[in-house]
Parts: sequence; structure tokens; C-alpha cells
Amino acid sequence: MEIFYKNLNTIPYNIYYSNRNKIKTVILQATPFCNIDCSYCYLDNRNSKIKMSDSKILEFIENLLNYEMLASEIDIIWHCGEPLILGADYYNNIITLISEILKNKIKVTYQIQTNGTLLNESWINVLTSKKIFFGISLDGPKEIHDKYRKDRKGNGTFDNVISGLKILKETNTQFSVITVLCQETLENPKILSDFFESLDIKYISLNFPEIEGINKKGLPYNNSTNLKIFNFVKFFYDKRSEDNGLKIFQIEHTIKSILKNTSPPILSEHIPFSTLTISSNGDLYTFSPEFLGFSHKKYGSFKIGNINNYDFNLDKINNFKDEIERGVKNCENSCEYFVICGGGHPASKFFEQGNMECSVHRSCELNIKILTDSISRLIFNNLSNK
Ligand code: SF4
Repeated sequence: MEIFYKNLNTIPYNIYYSNRNKIKTVILQATPFCNIDCSYCYLDNRNSKIKMSDSKILEFIENLLNYEMLASEIDIIWHCGEPLILGADYYNNIITLISEILKNKIKVTYQIQTNGTLLNESWINVLTSKKIFFGISLDGPKEIHDKYRKDRKGNGTFDNVISGLKILKETNTQFSVITVLCQETLENPKILSDFFESLDIKYISLNFPEIEGINKKGLPYNNSTNLKIFNFVKFFYDKRSEDNGLKIFQIEHTIKSILKNTSPPILSEHIPFSTLTISSNGDLYTFSPEFLGFSHKKYGSFKIGNINNYDFNLDKINNFKDEIERGVKNCENSCEYFVICGGGHPASKFFEQGNMECSVHRSCELNIKILTDSISRLIFNNLSNK
């Protein structure tokens, strides 16, 4: 076991990241099972009901602490499956035990990324006693949300999500909303803003549907999509002066990046072990969390070890790291958006292009280039009109 942790501490870092980085984010797949069946889900084992071993995960976290591999502040996030399946008592218990291990040594933020359908009264004690931050998936009004987020019988899930949201509000629990953009809301941004303003939600994060994992559908990349994205961005750009208007994280972030015009962001997904993802059977993944459970003929499994038997593949991590760095270098040498983007997400590159050393790919065209061009144009028009 000691060799395992010593090996983890020997990962070399490249010129971009000259300081030894520690683990900042631990993503736990408590179970892969999900009670609903979204049309764009990327996970392929969401029927499996296996559950992570409490004792093994506690032992692993204690070892990460003892071998000084954790940053002084970390996020522990339950994700990749529907975490709430395991019930309120599970989280009450596991958070108490993790907090005992890390108390006075590491500052932890606990987060749960959920579809929100299982939040009910049984959660109230946990919500008020544990400081958990919730990320809720909500795609817009009922007719839109229910079209894409159905339960396993084919019924919409909107009503349950809204009930869960009310409980979060009543218990003053911190939460954020993630919205997958669909054709309906892309073409009618007012639908989104009216809906979220009616719920008194001021800020959402947007996901462009991407080709990822088993999801092979994404927004089409063509002139028509470009124009729709421009109009969508313009709508929210023009609304920014309204005090209570809905704001979109990606638009605000891109505006700041353009106006700041500083050095490119360093993405945690490029740094080995900055993010550690642990599957319900104890397999370890790093770089992009979306690699969980996937393999490829060129790389084999993306898994780099397992917490149950302490096998650990240092060569594999170094190979991934080298390929990701080549990809970042290719981006830096060829792309004028590098200063905004930082070189893209390895999982998006892999799922779209079959490798991680490419530069331009469909996801960055949508998430970075069109967004940056649209906002630059709006800022320029705005300044010209003054
Ligand atoms: S926008 Fe695309 S090509 Fe440009 S830096 Fe980002 S990932 Fe690389």
C-alpha cells in the first residue's frame, strides 16, 4: 500500500505546471444507478445498482491525507449516477465520518450533483445539519424539461424536481442549476429567462449537448447554429443591465475573459490528480471525470488504479499526461482562442476525435469559438455605439 501512495507522489509535472499539485477535487460515484433516463446521458452503466464500499473509501481518504496528497481546501463531489438513490442517512453518515478524518486539517466543501427528483422530507435534517452544496439539473419549463428528462416509465420528471427545489429553498440550502441547452431554448432564450426568473433563480450554468460517452448526439455545428447562438447570447448580453435578470455563467465568464485579456486559464483536467474520480467499484480515474468506465483500443481502460487492491499504472498516467500536454501545445501553437480556452477538455477531444492531442474539435467550436466571437462582436458594437 505504501508503494502505491509513494508512486502517486512521483508523477512528474511539466513546464506549464511547475509546482507540485495536490488533489483538489475528489469525485465519488456512490452508485452508477440512475432512477431516470435522460435522452443525452453519457453514462453507459446506469442500470447497475452496486454501491461504493464505505470502509474502503474512508481508508483511501485517510491515506491520501496521511501521505499529504490532499490540497488544503478540497471539494468532495458525489456525481456520475444519481447520488440521492442512497438516501439521506447514507450522506448523513458518510459526511460525518469523512469530516472526522479531515477535521482541523483540510477544509472540505461537500457537493451533490443530482437530478433533484428524490429530494423529499427525509432529507430535511441532513440539509440543515450538513453544509452540502447541491447542483440541480433543470432544463426549463415543464414541456421542455419533460421532453428530455423522463423517468424509466417514460413520464416527465419536472414536477418532482420542482418539489425538490422548494425543499432546498425552504432549508436555505445552497444550490446551483445546470441547464442542458436544447433547440427550443436556443431558439427562444426568453423562455429560459422568464422561467428561471419566475422561480427567482438569478444564475444558471449552461451545457451544450456534447458527443460524450454513449451520447452520440450534439448540437449541429453549422451556420444556422452559429446564428442561433449569436442571437441567444445577444439576448442575455442585452439583459445584463437589468438588476434581476437571469445571468448565464458561460456568458459572464467569457465576457470577463475577453475584457481581462490575461494569460490562458490552466485547466485542472490537464493536471494529473488535480481531480480524482473514484467509481463505485473503487476504480481510479484522473484528468476528465467523463473517462470513468471508458476504454479505447489505443489506450485500453482509462482506469489508472483501484483503491481495493492498490494496483496502480504509473506508465498509463504518464502516457495520458504526455498526450494531453501535446494537445495543449498544439492548441497554443495554432489557435487564437487559446488565451480564452486554455487548450480544451481531454474527454471532449477523445470522444470526438479519438485522441487527446488534437486541437480544434466540435465542442470547442461551440463552447469557445462561437461564444467568444459572438460576445466580442457585441462588446465591439456596444463600444461603437457610445
Ligand atoms: S478553442 Fe479548441 S483549438 Fe482553440 S485552444 Fe481551445 S480546444 Fe484548442
